[in-house]
Amino acid sequence: MISIKDVKKIYPSKKGKVTAVDEVNLEITEGEIFGVIGYSGAGKSTLIRMLNGLEIPTEGSVTVANRMVSKIRGSELRKARQEISMIFQHFNLLWSRTVRENIAFPLEIAGVNKTQRLKRVDELIKLVGLEGREDAYPSQLSGGQKQRVGIARAIANNPKVLLCDEATSALDPQTTDSILELLVDINKQLGLTIVLITHEMHVIRKICHRVAVMENARIVELGPVLEVFKNP
Ligand code: ADP
Ligand code: ADP
Repeated sequence: MISIKDVKKIYPSKKGKVTAVDEVNLEITEGEIFGVIGYSGAGKSTLIRMLNGLEIPTEGSVTVANRMVSKIRGSELRKARQEISMIFQHFNLLWSRTVRENIAFPLEIAGVNKTQRLKRVDELIKLVGLEGREDAYPSQLSGGQKQRVGIARAIANNPKVLLCDEATSALDPQTTDSILELLVDINKQLGLTIVLITHEMHVIRKICHRVAVMENARIVELGPVLEVFKNP
């Protein structure tokens, strides 16, 4: 589903250049929940952003769902992002719109008609457990509820891949667990491939099948979670 080949990302900076990702090769299988863990500055965010074309690699190629996202631009990239969607640490919701309107937004952009939209939004609200909160504004929701809106919005157009950028890092431990359980449900029910980045071992242990450990722009360990995190 995802193929990252010889990828390097260099940012220009005042002090010279910063190599954020270096010599990364990675294959992620359809239906997998794949985690990338590492300290702040390791390159996780840059790596995941290259999976949906938010960053373009300086070298190498990134292919997701049969599209070479490292090469495409414009309308083709926008189409690709319906199949490769993303959720964020700070949710990135539309603050002046209700839960229902936030979830309907990507459907509107995709040109889904109003009747279909209403039906799909109802389905999504049930799927993420937000019944009764349809008309609330984001500022009236708890952190966990905000992320449920983020997830519903991200999966509205039936993507093949869901990217999670520190999606539980702003949440308390209990809420984190409930969001992780929702991600597992979605992975099982919809067969969605999930790639998540985190600095928390607990998140990886709880839901990931495999993990890559990043350090100084490189993947330094890769394998099934139980092998990589086995007790010495
Ligand atoms: P992580 O997500 O693991 O914290 P990042 O991918 O955000 O790591 O950052 C990796 C490195 O790239 C860091 O040294 C960071 O300062 C640098 N970096 C990230 N984004 C930019 C940017 N837009 N411009 C310049 N340097 C950047
Ligand atoms: P956190 O998860 O750290 O509590 P939030 O998700 O509340 O952060 O906020 C993330 C971003 O959204 C911030 O930049 C904040 O300024 C903005 N934001 C949060 N709540 C609102 C709101 N009700 N209206 C407008 N912007 C908001």
